[in-house]
Amino acid sequence: MKKEISGKTKIIGLIGENTENSLSPLIHNQIILKYSLNFCYLPFQVAETDLGEAIQGIRALNVRGVNITFPYKEKVIEFLDEVEESARRIGAVNTIVNNKGILTGYNTDVIGFKKSLQDNGKFVIKEKKAVILGAGGAARAVTYSLLEEGIEEISIFNRTLEKAKKIKQNLSPFPPKSSINIFSFEQNDLKDKIKEANLLVNATSVGMASQLNNTPLPDEKLFHPNLLVYDLIYHPAKTLLLKQAEGAGAKIINGLPMLVYQGIESFYLWSGLKAEGKEILEMIRQIT
Ligand code: NAP
Repeated sequence: MKKEISGKTKIIGLIGENTENSLSPLIHNQIILKYSLNFCYLPFQVAETDLGEAIQGIRALNVRGVNITFPYKEKVIEFLDEVEESARRIGAVNTIVNNKGILTGYNTDVIGFKKSLQDNGKFVIKEKKAVILGAGGAARAVTYSLLEEGIEEISIFNRTLEKAKKIKQNLSPFPPKSSINIFSFEQNDLKDKIKEANLLVNATSVGMASQLNNTPLPDEKLFHPNLLVYDLIYHPAKTLLLKQAEGAGAKIINGLPMLVYQGIESFYLWSGLKAEGKEILEMIRQIT
């Protein structure tokens, strides 16, 4: 049954530079509807110069919490009272919880990636080898997830080597048995590393709807049937990278399950309710 907006309705939402095309309002309001909860999830489009005031507004308006999206996941940290351990190490926050004016930052992309990889990709992370393309905020959350589950080796390739170096510096000591290698795209090691990898993750923005004919990995011969290719992009549902990987016999997965699972985890932090992931994912697949 749909709960009407009332004086008791708890406000949650999304803060980003451009929230118009985000699926998060749809995901959260579907959860609210399905479980008849007295919450309402709203998009807040905020200019960078207003970010501090917008975060202060969460306290002033007693908003229960928000998701943070591109490009504020790193910048928002300076405005928070507390940052949970994994978000602090990753250096990015995608969820804020407001507890009586104390704002705490979390990163639910970590659990979103892990759960989608395990549930939808049927992938066991322990002692595997992964190649990650990209070294932005999403790549940092993916790296953390894989390390947490005891991956053997991660090779990060990025256009700007400096950013990959930073990930290695920040996340290397944990856990000691895993190793992180970093490369620029120009280096020849990509071919060798993909050959011995079980998982390839695209954490660059190359291949998004605005650039449909682009792929971060133009050489189709690099894919192999023992590889799971995970593109964090969900729009389009099948990027050129995924089409090519599928054509070469590799298993594929897009970014929608991660988006849904990170949303479910954020919603849990605000409400204490853990929505049923498979059902919500199926609902979103049918609507979009
Ligand atoms: P970000 O911090 O801006 O990082 C972007 C990454 O893409 C950087 O590594 C950047 O390389 C690389 N890149 C951009 N243009 C490139 C080009 N032309 N050639 C090579 N590399 C290029 O963004 P992000 O937050 O990490 O997001 C990355 C992707 O993940 C986006 O597509 C986003 O939608 C997706 N994502 C999905 C989910 C989900 O739930 N499914 C969650 C988070 C993010 P440089 O460092 O050299 O600039």
